[in-house]
Amino acid sequence: MTAPTGAVLPGTAPGESGPTEAEWAAAVAAVRQVPAGGRVLLVCHVNPDGDALGSMLGFAQGLRRLGVDLLQATFPGPFDLPDPLRGLPGEEMLVPATEAYPDPDLMICFDAASASRLGELVDRLDTAGAALVLDHHASNTRFGGLHLVDPQAAATSVVAEELLDRLGVPLDAGIAECLYVALTTDTGSFRFEATTPAVHQMAARLLATGIRPGDISRRIFDHRPFGAVRLFGEVLGRARLEPAAAGGRGLVWTYATQDDLVRHGQRPYVLEALIDSVRCTAEADVSCVVKQVSAHEWAVSLRSKGAVDVSRVAVALGGGGHRFAAGFTGRGSADEVMDGIRGQLDDALVGSEDQV
Ligand code: AMP
Ligand code: MN
Ligand code: MN
Repeated sequence: MTAPTGAVLPGTAPGESGPTEAEWAAAVAAVRQVPAGGRVLLVCHVNPDGDALGSMLGFAQGLRRLGVDLLQATFPGPFDLPDPLRGLPGEEMLVPATEAYPDPDLMICFDAASASRLGELVDRLDTAGAALVLDHHASNTRFGGLHLVDPQAAATSVVAEELLDRLGVPLDAGIAECLYVALTTDTGSFRFEATTPAVHQMAARLLATGIRPGDISRRIFDHRPFGAVRLFGEVLGRARLEPAAAGGRGLVWTYATQDDLVRHGQRPYVLEALIDSVRCTAEADVSCVVKQVSAHEWAVSLRSKGAVDVSRVAVALGGGGHRFAAGFTGRGSADEVMDGIRGQLDDALVGSEDQV
């Protein structure tokens, strides 16, 4: 028996099901109702990752096919992309945040769990004629007027693909490459828990357009400057294992400073891949990389193997994310940031929420 779309399945907590049919219909109508000559502004979260940028640029190409001419894609902060994310199809639609339409007819947000992830572009939520949010974070705060939020979706690109389909836009290789980058980024190249049969079916649809997965994966995941390889060696060399943390499930962590980046001549984005080398640690359920953004500000990446719900840790510290992968902005020294995390781990042990 198939439950109606949008129904709350048995055993599924309210808020964990995907968009309702009414929400899909409202989103389709919002796109279709953009007047001739209307301006559409697409925004993804600050420090775009493959899902944020890929779902946005994939969708942007679809909108172009629908005949939307006045179309901008942007993200908050410096107009600077990680090298691996450069050169995606649709990139020519990207503009710096400073040039984004001040009052678009329609704004569409990608992969942002909360308004704070839109940085200085947050004011467009008020000035836009309508604001549609496409996302897959369970922690999504529903900050727009229209929402397509599916916490079961492996990536925002899953939601984007379905909306394109409902708008009658067929996949082409350009759209598919962007959505594939997004899907592989958020599933860890089909290794993470979110890798369902539906994910592989979507990948099959994308690959059927003729895109080359080997080339794409090498460019996105297996490609970094030699200076970054040396930097990783240094930062991994100072990793610490705390076996007693998280109720004995173990914590492993390290940090990287701006000085580390300068000494190795690297840009901050190279640090995003570090967590993958740290989280392999067999003796720890929780892993963490604390990356210095400015003197007293740190971008924190958290990962779990399941004993701890790291999204609860991140949300408690002002961030967000998913059960197995989450993040937040930490303030103070790296040690102070780590103390804050340690203080949340026990409360975030899976099962602890059932205890009074
Ligand atoms: P990352 O460690 O940066 O790869 O992020 C892992 C997950 O946590 C992603 O789903 C992000 O969207 C989320 N996340 C990371 N940083 C933040 C933040 N400062 N606020 C909210 N969510 C975040
Ligand atoms: Mn993201
Ligand atoms: Mn995502």
